[in-house]
Amino acid sequence: MTKTRGKSKVKIVSNPAQAKHPPAHDFKPSGKHLNFNRITDEQFLIAAEEMKLEDDIRMLLRTPYRELIVQIPVRMDDGHLELFHGYRVQHNGVRGPYKGGLRFHPEVDLNEVRSLAALMTWKTALVDVPFGGAKGGVTCDPSNMSRKELQALTRGLTSKIDMALGVYRDIPAPDMNTNAQVMAWIMDEYGKKHGYTPAIVTGKPINLGGSEGREEATGRGTMIITREACKAFGIDIKQTRVAIQGFGNVGSWTARLLDEQGAKIVAVSDVHGGIHNPAGLDMKKLVAHVKTEKTVVGFAGAKSLPNDELLTIDCDILIPAALGGVVHRNNADDVQAKIIVEAANSPVTPRADEMLRKRGKHVLPDILVNAGGVTVSYFEWVQNLQQFHWDLLTVNSELERRMVKAWKRVYQTATERNLTLRIAAYAVALEKVAEATRQRF
Ligand code: NAD
Repeated sequence: MTKTRGKSKVKIVSNPAQAKHPPAHDFKPSGKHLNFNRITDEQFLIAAEEMKLEDDIRMLLRTPYRELIVQIPVRMDDGHLELFHGYRVQHNGVRGPYKGGLRFHPEVDLNEVRSLAALMTWKTALVDVPFGGAKGGVTCDPSNMSRKELQALTRGLTSKIDMALGVYRDIPAPDMNTNAQVMAWIMDEYGKKHGYTPAIVTGKPINLGGSEGREEATGRGTMIITREACKAFGIDIKQTRVAIQGFGNVGSWTARLLDEQGAKIVAVSDVHGGIHNPAGLDMKKLVAHVKTEKTVVGFAGAKSLPNDELLTIDCDILIPAALGGVVHRNNADDVQAKIIVEAANSPVTPRADEMLRKRGKHVLPDILVNAGGVTVSYFEWVQNLQQFHWDLLTVNSELERRMVKAWKRVYQTATERNLTLRIAAYAVALEKVAEATRQRF
């Protein structure tokens, strides 16, 4: 929709009031308009039922504490004024300051951000870091924006949600299409009003107070959980063939670290397409290729593969590390992998989850698998508050310890109570948040 006001054109990129809320099982191949909030709510309710959670606590834990929708006007390089919509949802803060990433993506809406904020509450509880859950985002297409426009958008968002942020209130981090540079702009913008405050954001460049090991933390956590699950299921990781959807921060680090563990990465994809080599992809060469070409497509050591086919390719471990809702009722029966590792948030819909369970597949849940990022974000926050820098070995060994501990707790709960790993993970997390709620009120 484009309106003309005076000389400048104002382009309304999205209108939150018109956001659609279709039923949870609706599927669109891109994941667009999939009702993520209903997916996470459904998972929450199954776990709450299993735990016989009191009605009042249940209601409190289902409801977000605060939701902000802000308008961000940005003067684009061609001179026109574009209007973006930004969101910050603070889901639950009984265990500590709100914590969660910021996503820049054309499909961001309030519904998705709400769901991701709730996931953060369970994730921080599961790995026992003293944070609550939040998430934010802007509906935009960063692939069509210049660095200058992105910087203006980031600074605009920061100043609009400033009143809800704070070192002990809400601390953003990177997510899809946001990175250390975006975090540096947030820190700088926040600092204009509040003075030097590195702990206001995590995932910063190391030079500006970022933590060693933060960039690869989510991939490292994903590798650790995959490795521990293989051990528990009696599978030799060195004999496994792995397919990974998404070759951004999480996907590429997961691929590299699993490769180091001896797994064979046979297929990967990104938004432009996929590649496949049953004999295994050479990770060092692939990373170098992506550095120059900005895509996995065209890699000399592999054949091309349509993106959808990656999910159902012949492999032992499938790792969706891009979008939500990609494994759904229309393709779940075609998934060949024995283990599905949810590196992305909500990549498997509840219906698909059920179909995979019936076929004896193991789904390692997102709130456990990708919690390495927020764990090292916690380390970064601690280092900023202490004004002390940890070395990489300290970060990685502390991350390893916490991820293994969380895995053991979830696996033990699942085994003892005959639950899926997802419901066991929710049960462990919900109990911690519920207990903190009872103690506060
Ligand atoms: P990113 O922007 O670095 O990478 C995303 C990747 O997905 C890119 O390679 C992109 O090309 C690919 N992609 C996008 N659309 C695709 C499609 N239709 N098909 C195939 N590939 C597609 O993002 P990221 O930080 O790696 O995050 C990936 C997922 O992991 C998201 O769901 C995010 O919420 C989740 N996550 C990230 C972190 C983190 O620390 N970065 C932490 C927890 C969870």
